Amino acid sequence: MKKREFIRCSGLLAGALIANSMTGCKNEPANKSGRKIRKDSPIRLKYKPYTLQLRHVFTLASGSRTTTPVVLTQLECDGFTGYGEASMPPYLGESHESVLKFLSEVNMEQFSDPFLIEDITEYIDKIAPGNYAAKASIDIALHDLAGKIVGEPWYKLWGLNPSKTPYTSFTIAIDTPRVVKQKVAEAEPYKILKVKLGLGNDKEMIETIREVSDKPICVDVNQGWKDKKYALEMAHWLKEQNVSFLEQPMPKEQTDDIAWLTQNAPLPVIADEALQTTGDLFKVKDIYSGINIKLMKCGGMNAAYKMAFMAREMGMKVMIGCMTETSCAISAAAQVSPLVDWADLDGNLLISNDVYEGVTVEDGKITLRERPGIGIIELEKIFQD
Ligand SMILES: [Mg+2]
Repeated sequence: MKKREFIRCSGLLAGALIANSMTGCKNEPANKSGRKIRKDSPIRLKYKPYTLQLRHVFTLASGSRTTTPVVLTQLECDGFTGYGEASMPPYLGESHESVLKFLSEVNMEQFSDPFLIEDITEYIDKIAPGNYAAKASIDIALHDLAGKIVGEPWYKLWGLNPSKTPYTSFTIAIDTPRVVKQKVAEAEPYKILKVKLGLGNDKEMIETIREVSDKPICVDVNQGWKDKKYALEMAHWLKEQNVSFLEQPMPKEQTDDIAWLTQNAPLPVIADEALQTTGDLFKVKDIYSGINIKLMKCGGMNAAYKMAFMAREMGMKVMIGCMTETSCAISAAAQVSPLVDWADLDGNLLISNDVYEGVTVEDGKITLRERPGIGIIELEKIFQD
């Protein structure tokens, strides 16, 4: 299926699912209580910068940090409220300033039908190139709003089976053996460990974990290895250590080396930094075995859903990941998770000041709520009326 045809078909599919779930008649959607939204009620946007505090210093091959800037958004329409979020880890190039500037240019009040998701996405995309976290903060809030109006969770509107959610991995960042062991103990409820490598102590990290745990591990190098022969040698060694896959082992620019590694490695090689949006799938399909989709990279739930379907059609493995985020963006990503092979949705578990409650992890498995939209509730009042 060609890219354009696929996007059109999946848009129609989502539209049809929404239409089927509307309990009102003709053009007027109604929620389960039967209340119809007024056609002339504009969609209003509110937003607020916020700083996430991390439970531990978070060290990757690209650097260390203790906070992550986010912007929390809210879309209101005729008494319904949808929540969204932009999360901006430094390596993606967005910031409080850039997201606030982008959102100040958004005129949502020209729209009064939150179900025009494709039209609204097109408008948002055209405001400025890039700015995917800022775009995701509108997209997530819009999905939450539309889901609340029809009174159904998004996984249901997409026709996905909530029992097919994967286990989520829990991230162990690069640290001293003492702290790594402490983090493995904290990860007790999780079935899979995601281990960050790429700072020169690769074997020490894995051996430290293997002293205290025999759980399956997946490895994320965050572009940290430069030499393909070392990468292949490590892939063989990691396979013996019960590692399931290797994420972004080398710099995304080293495409020939990565393609060679993918052909020769005994583990699937997954693209993360190498792709952002749906169009990038065509760039990575012959280089990697699979992709890591993140809402903050691709612009939100609409793009993530389409990317997951397209990648599967192309025979690629699919993973859904996250940044450090509140339960808002994590619960939004979790709606797509029944479509994927692996999930790494632990960003809300790594912070100490979450402001929402949503998707949970039960016995290591992502557990979707029966709540409408993205299924979250506010733990504290963020926006004053
Ligand atoms: Mg990664």
